Parts: sequence; structure tokens; C-alpha cells
Amino acid sequence: MQNIQSIYTSMGIDNNVYAYGSKILENLKERFLEIDAIAEYNQMKVLKAMQECQVSEACLLGTTGYGYNDLGRDTLEEVYAKVFHTEDALVRPQITCGTHALALALMSNLRPGDELLSPVGKPYDTLEEVIGIRDSKGSLAEYGITYSQVDLLPDGGFDFEGIKNSINERTKLVTIQRSKGYQTRPTLSVARIGELISFIKEIKPDVICMVDNCYGEFVETIEPTDVGADMVVGSLIKNPGGGLAPIGGYIAGKRECVENAAFRLTSPGLGKEVGASLGILKDFYQGLFLAPTVTAGALKGAIFAANIYENLGYSVIPDGKESRHDIIQAVTFGTAEGVIAFCEGIQAAAPVDSHVTPEPWDMPGYDAQVIMAAGAFVSGSSIELSADGPIKPPYAVYFQGGLTWQHAKFGILKSLQSLVNKGIVADNMLLDATK
Ligand SMILES: *Cc1c(COP(=O)(O)O)cnc(C)c1O
Repeated sequence: MQNIQSIYTSMGIDNNVYAYGSKILENLKERFLEIDAIAEYNQMKVLKAMQECQVSEACLLGTTGYGYNDLGRDTLEEVYAKVFHTEDALVRPQITCGTHALALALMSNLRPGDELLSPVGKPYDTLEEVIGIRDSKGSLAEYGITYSQVDLLPDGGFDFEGIKNSINERTKLVTIQRSKGYQTRPTLSVARIGELISFIKEIKPDVICMVDNCYGEFVETIEPTDVGADMVVGSLIKNPGGGLAPIGGYIAGKRECVENAAFRLTSPGLGKEVGASLGILKDFYQGLFLAPTVTAGALKGAIFAANIYENLGYSVIPDGKESRHDIIQAVTFGTAEGVIAFCEGIQAAAPVDSHVTPEPWDMPGYDAQVIMAAGAFVSGSSIELSADGPIKPPYAVYFQGGLTWQHAKFGILKSLQSLVNKGIVADNMLLDATK
């Protein structure tokens, strides 16, 4: 066999960068074995669901028009319900993204006069307009649905007293975001989500507990619906689409919650009966089938990145040793140059558009310029190797994805090479760190 390093050399990775990466990897063997074991369990879980639902060749075809009796669509929703151990699921290309799925779950299950509670602090940016924290047309606030929020304690713990005090007779739905998203709080493990839900249900048993499951699917062997969540919601261009789904979102949960969502997505009276799947089902099935191993690859990449940069003295969240509950890795470089060099390296590692140079730009909705690296097969897909960072203090980048571990590894080495090329990371730092 050809020497593996020679192919890296031919793709612009210097010997010292490669050697440093190899050194870091030596200490990650056990962690990677644990991740493989989780992937193995989840692979079987998905396969079992597909077999039990008797997925057949006919399921891979699609319908057009109204989409009545779409066998593949209906069976896929059964498969999702089995994977998440729920009564029902809605999995549709007509759900355009994660924000849409979350908005749908909220708007369909809340009524004027109800209150929504977030007991884990501020939700994901895009939900601020859905809820009406920031004014927006069509927000929950416009429909007379109020919102209350209890922040996490400074140490990341739940403010049980505060949560108890904020639950009232109007509290109808509780939204719990599993991933930290682009915040610095810790990501919640499924076990911690379970604790929180038990506490809330003890105070108010009939409240609907919804979990924003984005970036968390298949990171553990259990999902929030295994510990009491009434609904889990997510995007198919993240973990559960396995990199193959070109669009879509899902809601899995209690029959009534999913039914409400279906009536809102299509129309009262029509619900799940309409919504042609066109030609998309094969990618949804195959993507879900691959999702456990794709997620595992992304997770290894995140851990590799944490250790690579932690060892060089940068602050990383989560740190190199912590247990993982989502696939996002934050690295703080402290300078705009660091953020830019990192993103340029990630872009240069892409299978698509590797020849373009990403630049910071004024993205709508952000108060600083943002640089993004993404050379993806599916536009904007963040289960594929991608990174972004706002050009403002503390100058951190958020890195995630990689359809294979090998690709994630290359991307991270390429990011480091880019920092070395620009003199931000000195050669002797790599040498010192490998001693
Ligand atoms: C990505 C994400 C969303 C929104 O998903 P989009 O597909 O970008 O609309 C919501 N919540 C969390 C935690 C996310 O990571």
C-alpha cells in the first residue's frame, strides 16, 4: 500500500502538522471505540425499525400532486416513530428547515392565551422571531401567546426554584434546546433532559415538553423521547438526514402533538393525508440509515479538533476530555486572523468549492461580520464539514460535521496548516506539543 502520509503531503499537509495530528490521535483511541459502539447500537436501532416497518422497494418511489396514499412517506414516518420510540412522526420535505419544524411544532400546539416556557435560557437565534422575543410578522406573540424564560445557573445547572415559580396555569408547552447551539452553556445530555422533564411534569403533568433535538440525534443511544419528552424536533440537513437528505425536517412525538403539527403544515382536515414526496424518499431512507455512522464521524472530528487546539493553548468548548452530547465544537482564537485562517483551511478541504476563499460578510440578522466555510453537496448542510465564526470578540469559530471521519480529520489538519502558513501557529509550538 502507498504510504498514507504521502497523499496528505500531496494535498498540502506538512510533515510537522501531520506528525502533530498523529500524536494527538494516539490518545483518542479509546474514545473513538466508545463512539463506534454507540454508532453500532444506533445502526441496529435504525435497521430494526426499517425491518419492522417492512420498508420495501415500493417505499423508495414517490408520489406527485396531492400525494394521497404515499406508501413510502407514511412508512418513513412509522420508521421515525419507531427510532424515537414515539406514537407518531411527521417527516416531510415540505418542512423547509429546522427553524420551520420548530415553529410548526410550537404554532400548532399552542393557542392564544397559552404560555411557552424555556427553562434552559435563550433559545436558538432564529427562534427569537418565531416566539416574538424580537418583533416579527406572524410570531407567537402576535397571536397572543406569551413567553417566559428561566436562565441556567452560572454553573450550567437548572434553576429549579425559578422554573417552579414560572410555571403557571397558562403554561402549555416547555421548549428545551438540547444543543448549546452558538452559546457557551453546556449542551444537555439526554439524562439531564430527563431530569428536567420529570421535575416539570411533577409540577404540571399535562404540560407538553418539546426538545429541540438539532445536532443531537444519534450522539447517544437514547433520545429525549426515551426520557419523557412529548416531542422531538429537528432538521434533516443535520444528523438524521445522514448527509443525503437535500431538505426537510421532522417532528416525532405523541399522536396528538404530531396531528396538530400536520394540520398546521398542510390544512385543517387534510393533515398527514396530503403532501407528495416527489422523488425524495430514497435519500430520506438511505440518509437515516447512514445517520448513525455519519454522526459518529462528525463526533470524532469534533473531539479531534478539541484536542488539536486545546494542546496548542486555545480555549475549546467542549474541552478535549468532556463527554459529548452534540457535534458542535467551538475554538476561541482571540483574533480575527485566527478565525479567518481556520475557516479558509476548512474550505480548502471541501469536496465542492475547495478553490474558493471564504470572506467575512454582513449577514442579515447579525450585528458583526460573519465568515463561513462550507463546501457542501447540500447547500448549507451542517452535517457536512463546515465552520463559521462572527468577526468579533472573543473571536471563536464553531466547527461541525464531516460526512466521514477521514474527511473531518483532513479538514482539521487543513485548518491547522492554514494557521501555520500564516504564522499564527508557530512550528515550534507543534514540536513542543508532540514532545
Ligand atoms: C440549526 C439549529 C436550529 C435551526 O435550524 P435551521 O435548519 O438552521 O433552521 C435550531 N436549533 C438548533 C439548536 C440548531 O442547531
